[in-house]
Amino acid sequence: MINIVIFGKPGAGKGTQAEFLKSKYNLIHISTGDLFRHHISNKTSMGLKVTSIIKNGDLVPDKLTIDILENEVKKYNNTNGFIFDGFPRTINQAKKLDDFLKSLSMQISFTIALEADDEILLHRLLKRGETSGRSDDINKVKILNRFQEYNEKTLPLKEFYSKQNKFFTINGVGDIKVISERLISIIENS
Ligand code: ADP
Repeated sequence: MINIVIFGKPGAGKGTQAEFLKSKYNLIHISTGDLFRHHISNKTSMGLKVTSIIKNGDLVPDKLTIDILENEVKKYNNTNGFIFDGFPRTINQAKKLDDFLKSLSMQISFTIALEADDEILLHRLLKRGETSGRSDDINKVKILNRFQEYNEKTLPLKEFYSKQNKFFTINGVGDIKVISERLISIIENS
């Protein structure tokens, strides 16, 4: 079994590369952002709770996020593994994920961060916002807030997973296929 966490600031290409890894290694792709957006478009009680938080570019409280993640993982038995995209995003989420996976006799195999400069990411997100319909992709101030949330709350995970020898970084700028090759090389050589 192989369980991968993909890190990266908004716009780094987590979703795109997660879809590639999903088909290459036959994994289950879980994006907490996609799960929240599904709730928002279905106007569920969860969706109503998180609509303005996501629109503002703030992180959803850990409790809600951990619940949604655990419920999703529990839906699948006998899989080759999972790709966690956008989760964990805080130290508390990472600790809870370790405990939860342990209770299922599973563990994170490794984590990979896609890196790119803020100017490139801002450009990508504003471009995506022209067509994605995502309320958090159209406003520069909200996008910069998402970068800030990442720097403050998610970057400390680098040290958390480095201590477990499970943290890798790759350059997230370039041709999508070339970036996929960089990912494969980490997965196959570690
Ligand atoms: P991006 O990485 O481009 O911001 P996502 O789809 O991963 O896109 O996340 C969109 C939004 O969903 C985040 O800005 C945040 O509000 C919320 N979200 C997603 N995952 C988490 C998480 N693990 N913890 C807290 N909030 C989350």
